[in-house]
Amino acid sequence: MKNNCNFGIIYIREVPELLLLTLIREVLYVETKVCKRCNIEKEINDFYKNGKNYNSVCKECKKIEALQYAKKNKEKIKEYQTNYRIKNKDDLKKYYKKHYIENSEKIKNYHKEYYANNIEKIKDYLKENKEKIKEKRKTYYEKNFQQINTKHKEWLRNNKKEQLKYEKDRFHNDKIFKLKKQSRNLIRSSFSRKGQRKKYKGEEIIGCSIENFIKHLLKSFKKNYGYEWDGKEKVHIDHIIPLFEAKKEEDVIKLCHYTNLQLLKAKDNLQKSNKKVFKVKEDLYESK
Ligand SMILES: [Zn+2]
Repeated sequence: MKNNCNFGIIYIREVPELLLLTLIREVLYVETKVCKRCNIEKEINDFYKNGKNYNSVCKECKKIEALQYAKKNKEKIKEYQTNYRIKNKDDLKKYYKKHYIENSEKIKNYHKEYYANNIEKIKDYLKENKEKIKEKRKTYYEKNFQQINTKHKEWLRNNKKEQLKYEKDRFHNDKIFKLKKQSRNLIRSSFSRKGQRKKYKGEEIIGCSIENFIKHLLKSFKKNYGYEWDGKEKVHIDHIIPLFEAKKEEDVIKLCHYTNLQLLKAKDNLQKSNKKVFKVKEDLYESK
């Protein structure tokens, strides 16, 4: 090995002996092996390495075997995977987090592309599993309420302009959204006007879910005017018996019950507030 002949640009005397042998072997001939399954002679790289030795079955055949096995043992594999996930929950969490941070751009692009290519499929899935998804979201939200809230607040702080524009657009185009917002404002202002702090949740005060409340309001508009509200005409949520009749917090709560609330055209509501002819009924809550 100590001659000075050229081997490419490397002088042979500078190359360790073992590496040299490997080089020569790779240049001179390609090792092959016959697969025990398909009986085809293939290059050695077409076999998986098992420690120092190569498998007796080629990669191609191994893949087919694995697929067949998976098909036959679906339940078993599923169980194994579930157990594995439970056992290694913390490690997996760490791993996924690290993986996500290191590959966030790639993952985002992948999702974007997948979404664009499968939009119909996704829509169908969402439609079919509406209830299930709703339930899952609810549980997740309840469990992670604190964290989500903090993150959302932080996002709002950093995206004030976008948020305002979004709300404004939606307020003008989505009548349910509009009513929800008005309902919340109404509850809030009812109490602050009376100098009391809101200690009950909106739905508790109104006496029904916000969805039903909105249905109630839309119905009341139709009843009052004989046609459906188009979402454009300016409306107010009106207290049938006005709030200024309330003397104590208890009265405010009574007057904010949905049975005392209706949807009026803004101009009618303003006209109405000039006439003070109402009294708080003691049995308003019960009379519902
Ligand atoms: Zn094979």
